[in-house]
Amino acid sequence: MRYVSTRNATLDITAAQAIATGLSRDGGLFTPASLPAVSMETVSTLCKADYRERAVNIMKLFLDEFTAEELAGFAAAAYSDNYDTMDSAPLRKLDETTAFLELWHGPTCAFKDMALQMLPHLLSASLKKTGENREVCILVATSGDTGKAALEGFKDVNGTSILVFYPEDGVSDVQKLQMTTQEGANVGVCAVKGNFDDAQSGVKVIFSDEQLRGELDKRGYFLSSANSINWGRLLPQIVYYFSAYCDMVNGGLVNLGDKVNFCVPTGNFGNILAGYYAMKMGLPVNRLICASNANNVLTDFIKTGTYDKNRPFHTTVSPSMDILISSNLERLLFDLSGMDDSQVRGWMEKLASEGKYTVTDEVKAKLDAVFSGGFCDDDTTRSVIGSLYKDNGYLIDTHTAVAYKVLCDYRGETGDNTPAVVVSTASPYKFCDAVLEALGESADAPGLELVDKLSAVTGTAVPKPLESLKSKARRFTESVEKTEMKDVVEKFLK
Ligand SMILES: *Cc1c(COP(=O)(O)O)cnc(C)c1O
Repeated sequence: MRYVSTRNATLDITAAQAIATGLSRDGGLFTPASLPAVSMETVSTLCKADYRERAVNIMKLFLDEFTAEELAGFAAAAYSDNYDTMDSAPLRKLDETTAFLELWHGPTCAFKDMALQMLPHLLSASLKKTGENREVCILVATSGDTGKAALEGFKDVNGTSILVFYPEDGVSDVQKLQMTTQEGANVGVCAVKGNFDDAQSGVKVIFSDEQLRGELDKRGYFLSSANSINWGRLLPQIVYYFSAYCDMVNGGLVNLGDKVNFCVPTGNFGNILAGYYAMKMGLPVNRLICASNANNVLTDFIKTGTYDKNRPFHTTVSPSMDILISSNLERLLFDLSGMDDSQVRGWMEKLASEGKYTVTDEVKAKLDAVFSGGFCDDDTTRSVIGSLYKDNGYLIDTHTAVAYKVLCDYRGETGDNTPAVVVSTASPYKFCDAVLEALGESADAPGLELVDKLSAVTGTAVPKPLESLKSKARRFTESVEKTEMKDVVEKFLK
């Protein structure tokens, strides 16, 4: 399979090269030149397989240079007893037409684990296959969950190191504690004064700094990314759309071949894009519903065809979706425009210079054919958590609540009652303060006390990875301006 860049469709590189490099030198994102087809017979076979086998079967379609044995080894390492359930992505049925896909049973209690437990294996194998002998340093800008999940995935992996920047004002108490107590000899964590977009654009500047690249090369290092712009991050996410569909069939919510809707709490557009690719591969999907919080730039884009980031940035109770530039949207635009790299480059240049762009009517029509969008504010998010718990005894986190509410609104507005999967992206324990408030409890205590309180109030068990935070020492305390991020990298890679 050939991979291209969203800003250079004539590029011709392998999967291993795409994964090893992360971001293309032209600023674009690596993308398969075509998507493999999956037949209904194959889906039927996958229905009888466990999650690891599903992962091998889907991923190998994209990874010519990897053997099935190799991938089976990666899947066994990525999705096993590091999860608190053998079924790494269990589907929880709510009623006859609605189910939640719980993607947070891994080591950091959020869905980023689904990709980031797999990526280090893909990356270190890709480096070997491409003959790379420098050490890779993974540079991450995180809105909270990615950073911790990447740290867990890469800690003490040979030939790698990892440096994570998080926005000082953009993550929860527990997320901050998870990162600042991270263990491992090859890890670094640093706060940036500002929001997620500051941290992310700071990292982008570092990646495009040729002088720094040269200096690090002399020292025997090169930089790569674990953000959802890396193809090795996106690919493992395609798997759980197939897996969820199989479990919808197995659970009797749909018959094989019937269509389902997916509603996805969206930030950087990686998760829902994986659903789009699954659909293009042949998974029976009716609509993809893109759910946002008050940072509803995607809702407006889907409605109008104009992407406009010139708007106030809101800090919300669903911080992993507090994003005004959704990087992976570029891959969707590349696909919808028929792989028109110059058009994509033009839109991205306008985004950089004016903060907005408008897609063509043709692209807008293709967008309309698949995507719906909606958003939900913080008060509504809390009230949805409260009422779902009261009515169904089912506790969800703030991000999942945004998606559930947007699905309910979508159904009300359109009358489309196609069986739907709400993609559940975090354990409620990761966002205890908002979840407790939603249940009518006070939440003015340190994060870890709230974890115990949520357990006491709901009679549910604290996830083990959070329970163990209590006994861990804080290792990382540095906080820098955006302009100082480069110095942090140079110091880390001495
Ligand atoms: C990262 C994240 C999201 C957003 O996913 P994208 O792939 O960035 O759209 C939603 N919910 C949670 C809990 C997350 O960690």
